[in-house]
Amino acid sequence: MIKSKHHIIAIASGKGGTGKTFVATNLFHALKETGENVMLIDCDAEAPNALAFFDSRQADCIEVTQQVPVIDSAKCTFCGKCHEYCAYNAIFILPSLEIIKVIEDLCHACGACLVACKYDAITQKSVTLGQVSLNSINENVNLIEARTKIGVMTPVLVIKAAIRQIDHRNNIVILDSPPGTSCPFIHTVAAADYVVLVTEPTPFGLSDLKRSVETLKQMNKPFGVIVNRAGIGNNEVYDYLESEGIELLLEIPFDKEIARICSNGGMVVNHNPALKHQLLKLEQKITDKHGIGHHQR
Ligand code: SF4
Ligand code: SF4
Repeated sequence: MIKSKHHIIAIASGKGGTGKTFVATNLFHALKETGENVMLIDCDAEAPNALAFFDSRQADCIEVTQQVPVIDSAKCTFCGKCHEYCAYNAIFILPSLEIIKVIEDLCHACGACLVACKYDAITQKSVTLGQVSLNSINENVNLIEARTKIGVMTPVLVIKAAIRQIDHRNNIVILDSPPGTSCPFIHTVAAADYVVLVTEPTPFGLSDLKRSVETLKQMNKPFGVIVNRAGIGNNEVYDYLESEGIELLLEIPFDKEIARICSNGGMVVNHNPALKHQLLKLEQKITDKHGIGHHQR
């Protein structure tokens, strides 16, 4: 069979702490153990932690920067045009006091203010938003981490830079998505062919799951659900999945041993062959059903 196309799976959840990284890292490790060409990208750029689970070597590190405006108050006439053009309220101006400032955290680097200024008062400077590190577990780069600099308003540009590093020679790419349903989540899952939502069977889990489901439906993304820590909570998540016709991909029981291995930075699939088998079967099922990956193992 020709290895013609890669398949991108995002592992996501409506909130942190549901076991999203646990699923992403263990699926990655299980696939890698079978000899599969697989890449993991940690897109949870505000709190990336997938790297901590592996012995890896950094092959490269890319600085992600953004051009923000710098205003020369000596040339500025305080006409207010740049402030008017800025759709993000990133320029603060008090003409009567001859005060003008760029609020860098709000700036989206759209360049509109540069076009607006007829007095040559605006130039640009480069600011660092974060880094994308390229890491190898064996010889190939297969573990990528997006990491936003502390204080940066949004991790989206850093996440996009990490996703651009996808090596198309990999048959499977796993994206560990940021939690929630806002822009970082949307930009991550937009790059995926299929989304696995990880939830837990509790009222909080259900309410976050509903938000994620609504977002993915609007995006027209195929998805299914893994219930992690099954056995805690109640049946409401299952009732919801059934009533909405959402596929329950897998249940991972609540197990103190799993929690212990994870908290020690270990791979659960090394100790739990049944889970390893289930995760591999799950990936194969997704690939077969959605007909994108034409790989063989
Ligand atoms: S570059 Fe765009 S977002 Fe930034 S200050 Fe200028 S107009 Fe506003
Ligand atoms: S458009 Fe130029 S001159 Fe006018 S307020 Fe902005 S920086 Fe100053």
